[in-house]
Amino acid sequence: MRPSTGSKALWSELLPHEFHSRLKDNSTVYLPLGLCEPHGQVSAFGLDTIKAEWLCERAALRIGGIVAPSMGYHIHESGYHARWLEDEVGDHNPCMTGIPPAIMLHLFLYQLRAFVNAGFRTIIVVSGHSGGNQIDLRRAADLFMQRIPVRVWVRSDPELVEGQFEGDHAGKYEISQQMYLRPDLIDMSARAFESEPGSGGRLALGSDADEASPEHGKLIMEACLDRLCIEADRMKRLQSNETINPISYSVIESIMSELLQSANEWVTAQPWPGQAAVSSQSRWKPYERYAPDRNES
Ligand SMILES: [Zn+2]
Repeated sequence: MRPSTGSKALWSELLPHEFHSRLKDNSTVYLPLGLCEPHGQVSAFGLDTIKAEWLCERAALRIGGIVAPSMGYHIHESGYHARWLEDEVGDHNPCMTGIPPAIMLHLFLYQLRAFVNAGFRTIIVVSGHSGGNQIDLRRAADLFMQRIPVRVWVRSDPELVEGQFEGDHAGKYEISQQMYLRPDLIDMSARAFESEPGSGGRLALGSDADEASPEHGKLIMEACLDRLCIEADRMKRLQSNETINPISYSVIESIMSELLQSANEWVTAQPWPGQAAVSSQSRWKPYERYAPDRNES
């Protein structure tokens, strides 16, 4: 039986006695990750965050645990993103909440620290922003787990339904998700803006977005949630009550130093093998190859 906090599972909405009641029942915290980036003229910017929040909150209500404040800033622009941006939005301002890889991963490690210090022993991270960045988050999580005896499980939503549905960017997959979750934040008639000068045209809308439907979105989201709940339940059964001393800043800085040693292998720091080079005049050119110690323009 779930602790009696009603339909509340958000850390930000829990009173201290409610928080401790839920924590005692299940020491899992969920971290929803997303960002604002264009998903065509037809969708609100926050699609990635909205789907991650929905999954985390539903899983916490079904399996137990607490949902941490969402992270609405994420890695974009750098590495493989640069050519993608050139292709999908050109030199138009995409109005994104992108941050550099090293900043994101550094903050991520401090988020993990905050969770463990608050008493959590299982950390489930759901990223609505997909495409490769989640691999770097897992690299950071692996180093964290080498030092701290907790479980950190990181997945993007398309990874939750691998073999069932194929993720995309603002195509049939993602627009369907948004149509199901927040129909008020989708307006297909806004495609009319695509032909207006200075609008950014399709603004990264997928070629099959017109095939999207709320029914398809429901199938995708329910499948994502089912998989997430299976994992959350499995990890709950593995939880131990081992005492962990509070993690200091210096431990996180030491993990970050180790992580930085592999910066040239980070997925978000370079183009995909074989990916076309960014044009020299593109506004995204400076981000194509990222190094944390190099101050990009
Ligand atoms: Zn998206």
